[in-house]
Amino acid sequence: MTGAPDFYYDSMSQVRMETWHAGPVALVGDAAYCASPASGQGTSLALVGAYVLAAGLKQAAGDHTVAFPAHEASMRPFVEANQALGTANIKRMVLSSRSQVRMSMLMLRLVNPLSGKDRIMAKVVEPIHRAATAIDLPTV
Ligand SMILES: Cc1cc2nc3c(=O)[nH]c(=O)nc-3n(C[C@H](O)[C@H](O)[C@H](O)COP(=O)(O)OP(=O)(O)OC[C@H]3O[C@@H](n4cnc5c(N)ncnc54)[C@H](O)[C@@H]3O)c2cc1C
Repeated sequence: MTGAPDFYYDSMSQVRMETWHAGPVALVGDAAYCASPASGQGTSLALVGAYVLAAGLKQAAGDHTVAFPAHEASMRPFVEANQALGTANIKRMVLSSRSQVRMSMLMLRLVNPLSGKDRIMAKVVEPIHRAATAIDLPTV
């Protein structure tokens, strides 16, 4: 880390707002509901949000007073599910002591040779899959 020419350091932050629109302006993506890199879902949230907003505007024939609240209503549970992933993952991603790092590495080494590791991994990624699919996309 001390020798790296491109060392990257930043906070893990989420954006949580009561509303994502004001008048004719609406936010999508990180500006509205950043879930932080810890969720691993920021790109999906940004793309899905843009798609849902565009679909809503089309369905409302461009009337933002209808489309913006509808966008917010359909996106908010999806956003909250994926932001919750971020807060849950952070505890595993940012370990706070050397012993936690050692324990984590040991667990990975122990799981790797196990014949049932695919089942274990499926259980680990199940909450991610659930959050990532927690929205029905509109067809346009
Ligand atoms: C280290 C790291 C790791 C990540 N890992 C993942 C991952 O594994 N999976 C995942 O899904 N997501 C990940 N993300 C999150 C993901 O990158 C973001 O959630 C996603 O890029 C958000 O897209 P966006 O379009 O909302 O914002 P951005 O991608 O930030 O786009 C905003 C754009 O607006 C531009 N801009 C800002 N201000 C102005 C201005 N005044 N005028 C003009 N342009 C402006 C910026 O330059 C930028 O290009 C990670 C993020 C980081 C930082």
